[in-house]
Amino acid sequence: MAASTALAGGSSLSTYARNSDSDGGAHFGALHCLKGLDMRLPIAAAALVAAAFPAPPVEAHPAEAAQGECANALATLDGDFPTGAYASCEATGDKRFKLVIAPEDEGRINCSAWYAFRLTPARKGRVTIDLDYATCGHRYWPKISTDGVTWDYLKAKNVTVEGERNERTASIKVKLGDGPVFIAGQEIVPPSVYDAWLDGLAAHADAERRLLGKSAEGRDIPVMTIAGEGTQRETVLLVGRQHPPEVSGALAMFPFVETLLGDSDLARRYRARFQTLVVPILNPDGVVRGHWRHNTGGVDLNRDWGPFTQPETKLMDGLMKEVATDPGRRLRLMLDFHSTNHDVFYTIPDELPTEPELFTRRWLDRYQELMPDYEVNREARHDVGRPVSKAHVYDTYGIPGVTFELGDETDRELIRRIGEQAAIAMMETLLDSPEP
Ligand SMILES: [Zn+2]
Repeated sequence: MAASTALAGGSSLSTYARNSDSDGGAHFGALHCLKGLDMRLPIAAAALVAAAFPAPPVEAHPAEAAQGECANALATLDGDFPTGAYASCEATGDKRFKLVIAPEDEGRINCSAWYAFRLTPARKGRVTIDLDYATCGHRYWPKISTDGVTWDYLKAKNVTVEGERNERTASIKVKLGDGPVFIAGQEIVPPSVYDAWLDGLAAHADAERRLLGKSAEGRDIPVMTIAGEGTQRETVLLVGRQHPPEVSGALAMFPFVETLLGDSDLARRYRARFQTLVVPILNPDGVVRGHWRHNTGGVDLNRDWGPFTQPETKLMDGLMKEVATDPGRRLRLMLDFHSTNHDVFYTIPDELPTEPELFTRRWLDRYQELMPDYEVNREARHDVGRPVSKAHVYDTYGIPGVTFELGDETDRELIRRIGEQAAIAMMETLLDSPEP
């Protein structure tokens, strides 16, 4: 087994060569970065460059077994790496492949039609990949990377999308050079990236990483506690990646959390008063398997807050109860990072009383002030008993819950700014609220 080794200057291509280890998993480590953007994180730059982390062992999975690889004269196509996903692959010509993209199970599912595959060239040339969808149709604009670190949008001239809505198919042209390339619906951000990120953050005196628990398949679900010296009576909860393909939400969560751990006077005052619990990847099994929506129990985790039937959501329930049952502590806020087709905050309406009072409105007003050239979208509603995170925390704890949604294709530099400014506005607003 290869040791996990952080590489100082970015990831070498060899990390991503087709490289199976003894338990059959591919080594993969990646840091998300679209072309021209330095997404390295200020606190943990060294630890955050991609590393060759071994993938956790996984059991055989019908979809994976069916996935297989295929080859033609030009290249071999496979999905044997964390997040790699397609239902079937066929070489339809010397320079052409057809992939069928399908969801992970037969249940009802959102149309987050994730795909990720690797092309390993046998020789140079142009290859065409036809993406056919079993349901839902094409959604994510394809991104390409040679190293898993730096990602480019495929150029429009190389992507043809045909059909409408659930009938949308796509055809992708890729110029193959010497080494393998990855193509995916979004930047690939597997658990190894979170590990490197959390390890980097944990070097900060005010951050502590621990294991919250294990997923259904035994993968780690980490939690990071952020707090200054002394005793914090108020707790803010941040959750991410309930839905595997929702990478743009993750790209906002990273700078959001880093801002809470920053050196500003604001951040120090915030950490002195508030404890933050960060669970950045609640559905690691779904992420590794390239699921569209569910965990391996076939459940949408964000429809299980209340029933808490799944190992992953049970961990969240336990974490919240741990705070709520301690008479010296109070849950104050829950933010849940997601992606959809545009940037929007799903909130509860201002008419419903919360503690802190009118937090959501005051926070988003302040955030809008900090983002004068950007329009903050908010949609407020509440269905009592709906088993989603934001409704559950309001119904159960009377606190504001917000689903923080980033657009699939929102500019990545803007996403970073959104994460930073939303965090600043949140800290200011919470510090302005009376202490319980
Ligand atoms: Zn979501």
